[in-house]
Amino acid sequence: MRTKLFAISVVLIAVALYANHANTVVAQTTAPCTVGHTSPSTGFWTWPANSIVNIYVRDPDFSEDYAAAVRIAVQNWDAAAAESGSNVHFIFHGLTLATKTGQGDLTITRGETYDRKRHLAFLEAHSLQSNRLIDYALVIVDVRVKNPEVLTNIMAHELGHSLGLMDCYQCSRKTTAMSLLKTGTEPNGIEGPTPCDKSAVLAAYRELALHLPSTAVTLDKPSGQ
Ligand SMILES: [Zn+2]
Repeated sequence: MRTKLFAISVVLIAVALYANHANTVVAQTTAPCTVGHTSPSTGFWTWPANSIVNIYVRDPDFSEDYAAAVRIAVQNWDAAAAESGSNVHFIFHGLTLATKTGQGDLTITRGETYDRKRHLAFLEAHSLQSNRLIDYALVIVDVRVKNPEVLTNIMAHELGHSLGLMDCYQCSRKTTAMSLLKTGTEPNGIEGPTPCDKSAVLAAYRELALHLPSTAVTLDKPSGQ
């Protein structure tokens, strides 16, 4: 009888520990999005809502394996178009010999950024109407970036900028694409928008619609896709 009681209590403790562990896992994945801690603030320039953004990788700055690394981040942000409230779709076009400056074009090139800005890359956004709406852009990536996986992290970050997200240096690394990368060779595992990034973009486009009603979102797939 005593052994039986002992066995039951062990099982109960095991279940309690597991239940506690299960709650912990859930708590970790659904941690609240707190600006400056787990979520970036907003305020950067943005693509107009409902835009189609064409992504090009400049050849010979980058080889095919780097282009493939860019495609991963592009597809992850494209997949978030509706959920992020921007309805901005990103289309990957691969390697190109020339920098594109048409409406909705984004070209990725190499350049010296680290010495100038202490950044491994930066987004050069062009707003022809000076209305904070991006017409075309460049992402300039420093020569120190020598790992395609890091380029995926960089594109997850820079595309976040182009949807209104600011840098978040204090944010813990796994909660947002807007935290800083340590080095040009050490990936941070972030390949696209996190849940907190998507809700921050949602806030940015709601704000945008208040100021520029003409840019209100029409949540459907762009034609021809
Ligand atoms: Zn940044």
